[in-house]
Amino acid sequence: MSGQPDELVSFYGNSLKLAKCSLAVSKTYKTAAAPGATLWDLYPELLDLGARSMIEAALAGGLPRNIEIASSSSGDSRSLLVFGTERGLGVIETRDRSANSEASTREADRALLLHQARHDVLTGLANRRQFSSDLETGFPVPKGQKLALMLLDLDDFKPVNDTLGHGAGDVVLKMTAERIQSVLRGGETAYRLAGDEFAVIQRRRNQPAEAEELAGSLVRAFKEPFTIDGIDVFVGASVGIAIAPTDGNDGEQLMKAADIALYAAKNDGRGRARTFNRSMMIMLEQRETLRRSLRVALKERQFFIEYQPLVEASDGIVGFEALLRWRHPYAGVIPPSVFIPMAEADGLMGDIGAWLLEQACREASTWPTHFVVAVNLSPAEFLLDGFTDRVTGILDEIGFPAERLEIEITETVLLERTANNLDTLHTLEVLGVRIALDDFGTRYSSLSYLQNFPFDTIKIDRHFIKDIETNPKSQTIVRFVIGLAHGLGMRITAEGVETVGQATWLRREKCDRLQGYLLGAPMSADAIGNFLRHQSLAARWVG
Ligand code: C2E
Ligand code: CA
Ligand code: CA
Repeated sequence: MSGQPDELVSFYGNSLKLAKCSLAVSKTYKTAAAPGATLWDLYPELLDLGARSMIEAALAGGLPRNIEIASSSSGDSRSLLVFGTERGLGVIETRDRSANSEASTREADRALLLHQARHDVLTGLANRRQFSSDLETGFPVPKGQKLALMLLDLDDFKPVNDTLGHGAGDVVLKMTAERIQSVLRGGETAYRLAGDEFAVIQRRRNQPAEAEELAGSLVRAFKEPFTIDGIDVFVGASVGIAIAPTDGNDGEQLMKAADIALYAAKNDGRGRARTFNRSMMIMLEQRETLRRSLRVALKERQFFIEYQPLVEASDGIVGFEALLRWRHPYAGVIPPSVFIPMAEADGLMGDIGAWLLEQACREASTWPTHFVVAVNLSPAEFLLDGFTDRVTGILDEIGFPAERLEIEITETVLLERTANNLDTLHTLEVLGVRIALDDFGTRYSSLSYLQNFPFDTIKIDRHFIKDIETNPKSQTIVRFVIGLAHGLGMRITAEGVETVGQATWLRREKCDRLQGYLLGAPMSADAIGNFLRHQSLAARWVG
């Protein structure tokens, strides 16, 4: 057998079934290489523990491994180069260690390493390195030609990874690559840049029409759920498009333009494609200006709090939720949905949150003593080291009872560093602070949270309350959530109650608390006294 050329054999799936082999291999192994054969039939020597762990490492996406095996019967030694492929495992077999075949193994080795250096192991797509070099060689764009760059980013990939595990995340990424590939035609190449970021380079003349058509197909390819272990998960995609030479005349400029367009697509509600235009730059600049002025807002005392009443069927008003506001010197009052994400991204939320908690507790100390104050916490604050110490510090300093403080968190808080979060929640519970789960039903409402975390209250999102009088589906969901909360010994609050009809329906279904414009819109601290003297709206519900 000496001098026989190297043979490539590939195996697929979890059971490593034989996928492809050359005639020479099937002749050598005869029945062992029959249809349905597995890696272990061809190479029983690989059942050895050491060999198995090398194969596992190769499958897990590590570098190729070289395994020497000796056949006990014939005594000839073989060298197997094993490596992970898109669908399973590849094996390059070299039959003897003559100089000739060693040289060709090195050759195959090099080809393989070269391939791996330019491809992403998980998805098999070209990688960032290949992307940079392809983008680079695209410039300067020849006269009369166009080059379109599309950046694709998955929406809500992180929660999948965090809740269903990295294995599930990997499956989504592989399927993402397949979905992207399935809509590509000639002159279009897909790349995986990092994590859940992908790119497509398209060389076609009729732009931006052709790029927009492709981007539309890409977005549509993600409207169908991904089925993982029988669970349907929806992971959408947002796409930013930039065309060279119009939007950028080198790789860096074009990347920047596509990135801005992607940002705009995300900002417009995700699950869509946007093509770069100049006005996006202006928007971005305005945001940057706003972001810079946010840095001084706390020092310049530009924040203030509005309070919105929480009303209970049996007791009337039981407290207020503190809602943060920013009065910008030129732009006026800016809603929290605009500036809180910026503050979080810039690491300012810790200081702002501390200010809000202290201010809210101070103002609440002037209210009737049975009133609670509910404070929203962003994930960034919750994850800060020493968070619970700070809460205790503030409560002690003001002399505000922990039982009168309610902290509202969203499911997003629970997605990160779960063990620590659990500790923090339990510490708060021991202190006597109440905890509410906010915006319930809008995200990954994983019921296991309800089992693991000591919530006092679930706040059902106003999305379900909006059409509660007319939509039987919303009614079913709200009824279910009320039953669920009560079954677990938790209280339920309905958000966004705007009409008497909604309030009546909710009361009939035994919803404990209501909040919304019908019961009272957010108001300044100064307006509370007056509001309490004329609580007619709340009284209308309480009856
Ligand atoms: P949220 O906690 O769900 O707060 C309720 C939001 O719904 C408030 O918007 C409130 O003004 C609005 N709302 C209340 N009643 C009604 C109604 O009947 N109909 C309608 N359509 N809307 C109603 P706001 O004040 O703009 O706050 C938006 C979000 O910003 C809050 O949602 C909360 O997640 C966040 N937020 C507000 N203040 C803070 C804060 O101090 N810290 C943190 N981390 N987040 C805050
Ligand atoms: Ca809230
Ligand atoms: Ca809410």
